[in-house]
This record gives sequence, structure tokens and C-alpha cells, in this order.
Amino acid sequence: MLVPMKPLLDEAEKKGYAVGAFNAATIETMEAVVEAAEELDVPIIFNHAECVEKFTPIKEVAPKLIAIAKAARVPVAVNLDHGLDFEYIMSAIRLGFTSVMADFSLLEYEDNVKNVKRVVDICKACGISTEGLLGVMPSNVVGQEQKVLEGMRIRDFFTKPEEAKDFTERTGLDALAISFGTVHGLYIKDAELDIDLLEQIRSSVSCNLVMHGGSGVEPGEIKKAIDHGISKINYYTYMSNAGVAAMQKVMEDSEIPPYVHELSYYSKNAMRENAKKAMMLFNNGYKRER
Ligand SMILES: [Zn+2]
Repeated sequence: MLVPMKPLLDEAEKKGYAVGAFNAATIETMEAVVEAAEELDVPIIFNHAECVEKFTPIKEVAPKLIAIAKAARVPVAVNLDHGLDFEYIMSAIRLGFTSVMADFSLLEYEDNVKNVKRVVDICKACGISTEGLLGVMPSNVVGQEQKVLEGMRIRDFFTKPEEAKDFTERTGLDALAISFGTVHGLYIKDAELDIDLLEQIRSSVSCNLVMHGGSGVEPGEIKKAIDHGISKINYYTYMSNAGVAAMQKVMEDSEIPPYVHELSYYSKNAMRENAKKAMMLFNNGYKRER
């Protein structure tokens, strides 16, 4: 069933687990994620990121995400991931998304506050959940800005607790993505999460906290992050890699070029199994009543 994001995160925080948010740009990915969630009986969030517009335009992907979310046997929120442009965020609202991330984190602080507040005010009137970002999420994804260059310290990008307090109070956000050690894409070296900083932020703000860059973080670190207040974890890269690896294997093993439906089938199965592992980790041992 299609639901707003905030109640999912409130429930997760209360019960001590995190809800996985999975980028789902193709039908196979959407089905893989929902099948995994139904099998484990966990709520999930579909992410659609503005940066994939070229590959999967929001107008085409939104009706599919929403139809699959509505038909699911588990609660599913449909979230705009890293909405960078006001008009784009408005289009997500018009197309039926139940949550939007207003990411103006690259602007000056006061402009970030002003732009996010404008989105939050509209979303509150429409019953749509909101997420913002403070601090910078560095990225190793090709084509994205803010790389961790040689000589730079990842700590330079981290969220400051006092700013997080001011930012969430002035904007009224439902959820805040914070930078405390994760990066987007693949890790060059093991992620080291600053749990002390997470604790300080958790005690400074009243909204839910989000961790982006969930792929490749050690299970023990994920557990610590959830235990100290993270209730949404964005996860995509490793699931996508698993799907691509399965396709590559089929191509290598076939004597004749495989059909595209065969590649879709095997990649979907691989993504479902990968997503299941992530969901079990994010569930943090929580037992649901059936
Ligand atoms: Zn992100």
C-alpha cells in the first residue's frame, strides 16, 4: 500500500530499526525490491533521484512506482531522492509522490533554509513528507560533484549539530539526511562512521535522521547507526552491481546472445536477493507481529 514516509520512520525509530530506501529506476528493480520486502514483511521506500531524469524521466517512472506501491502487500512510500530544483520537486508532488527530498545543500546556508522551508510549507498542506540535507554527502559516483579528493578529509563535509538544530527548527522538516562518514557510490576505503557526532545530532533535533550511502558500510557500523538514531537508510549501488553482475554472467555463459527478457529475469533475481540482505540488516533484529 502507498503511504507517506513520516509514519514509517516514526514507527522505525520507536521500534529500533531503519526503513530501507531503494532507488528503483526500472520495472525489474521495483519488482525486486517489493518482492524482497513482501517476503520479509518489512516496509520500504522507493527512491527516484532527479539525477537519473535522462534515463528514466519522472513522468514515465512515477505512474509505475505508484502503481507497484499501491499493489504491494507491505507499506511503500514513494520518495523523490535529491530533488535539486524547485519545479522538479513540484512535478513529483503533482505526480503523486508521498515524500520529497529538497536538497539545496550546495547553496549558502540561509538560501538552503529558505528554499527547503518553501517546499516544506507546500508539502505540509498536501500531506506529503519531507527530507532535507545538511552538510555535504561526498560522492564517488561518476558525474556527481563533491568528490573526496586526495588531501581532503571526509570530516570536512560533516553535519554540525548546532546547525542541524537551527535548520530543522526553521524549516519544519520531517527528516534530515546527515553527513557523518558515508559517501555516495563505492567506498575507496572502509567507511568510518562518527557515532559520537550522530549522537550529538540526535539529541539536538526532533526529526527523523537519514543515512545516505548505505552500500558497502559494514553490518556492525549499520547496526550502530540504527541504534543511535538513524531510521532511514538509502541503498542502491550494491544492489545495482548485483543485477549487472548477474547479466554479465548470463552473457558470458551463453553460446548465443541472450534475449533481453532473460537478462531482466536474472538481474531481477540477483537484485531481490541483494535487497533482502540489506533489508534484514536494516531491520536490526526487530520482530514484527504477524
Ligand atoms: Zn543521497
